[in-house]
Amino acid sequence: MKETRVRFAPSPTGHLHIGGARSALFNYLYAKKNNGKFILRFEDTDQNRNVASAEAKMLESMRWLGIDWDEGPEVGGPHGPYRSSERLDLYRPYVDKLLETGHAYRCYCAPEELEAEREALMAKGETPRYLGKCRSLNDAEEKALAEQGRKPVVRFRVPQNENIVIRDQVRGRVSFESDGIGDFVIIKSDGMPTYNMAVTIDDHLMEITDVIRGEEHLSNTPRQVLIYKALGFEIPTFAHVSLILGKDRQKMSKRDESVIQFVEQYRDLGFVPGAIVNFLALLGWSPEGEQEIFSMDELIQEFSLDRVAKNPAVFDAEKLNWMNNHY
Ligand code: GLU
Repeated sequence: MKETRVRFAPSPTGHLHIGGARSALFNYLYAKKNNGKFILRFEDTDQNRNVASAEAKMLESMRWLGIDWDEGPEVGGPHGPYRSSERLDLYRPYVDKLLETGHAYRCYCAPEELEAEREALMAKGETPRYLGKCRSLNDAEEKALAEQGRKPVVRFRVPQNENIVIRDQVRGRVSFESDGIGDFVIIKSDGMPTYNMAVTIDDHLMEITDVIRGEEHLSNTPRQVLIYKALGFEIPTFAHVSLILGKDRQKMSKRDESVIQFVEQYRDLGFVPGAIVNFLALLGWSPEGEQEIFSMDELIQEFSLDRVAKNPAVFDAEKLNWMNNHY
C-alpha cells in the first residue's frame, strides 16, 4: 500500500486563522492515524499578498497547538524547507510541456481588455471568464504583440464540453462542467505561477495522496484536475471540509472583531492548547460516542474523514470556553 501523504499549504498572509488551524489539524490527524506523513508547505507565490512575519507566526501557532510536521520548513535533511517561491525552477518544465502539447498558450490581452470582457459578460448575466481571444495566435501575431511591449501570461486551454468528476471523501462524487471555467492563467506576466499551477505540481512532486482543505477551494479543484490530466499525473483523492459559520450562521469573516479568530490570540489570552485542538477537531468532525474531551492521541485514534460533515460547522465560543475550563 502507498504511504499516506497529506499537506497543509497555507499562504503566508497573516496569523494562523481558526479555519486554517482546523485544516492543518485534520491533515495531521489523518496522517498520524494512517501512519503517514504530514507536510507543511508555504504557498507564497502571490507576492502582493505575502506578509513578511506571517510564516514565523504561523509556525509558532502550529507548534503551540502541537501540530507538528514531518516535512517542511525548518526540518533538516532532504525534506524542506517547502516554499513555492523557492521551487520556481521545478515548475518551469511542466509549463513548457503544457505549451508544447497545446494544453496552454500565451495570452497578450491587456488588463483593460480583460476588464471590458468581464463587464460585458456580467451585463449579460453570464459567468465572467476569458473567452479565448489569444487561443490561436500564430507566431507572427505573437511576435507583433510582444513587440508592442505586451508581457504575456500563460493560460491553460480548458477543453469544451468536458465533465470533470472528483472523488471527495467528504462530499462523495462531485462533478463540474468545463464550459463555465474559461481558460485560466497558470503563469502570470511577472513569470510567477498562479496558485492552481503551483499547487498541482507541488502536490504531484510531493506525492500527496489525499488533499484535505477548506471548501472554498472546491471550485479550484476542476482546474487542478485538468492540469493533472494534461500532464498525465495521478489524481489524489480530495476532502473539502465545510465552512465555519459564526453563531449567526453567517460565514465567519476574518474582519469580524466580535469573535476571536486567530490561534495566537487564544494563546495570549491563556487558553490551553489542548482545548483549542479539541474544539477544532469537533468543528465538523463527530466522534462515534458521547465523549467530548479528547487528548491528541485519542483524536488520532478516533479520527476518520467519513465522520466529517458536509454541512457547515458552527463556531460556538461558549463551547470553546467550556472545553477550556474542563480540559
Ligand atoms: N494556499 C491556500 C490557502 O492558503 C491553500 C490551498 C490548498 O490547500 O490547496 O488558502
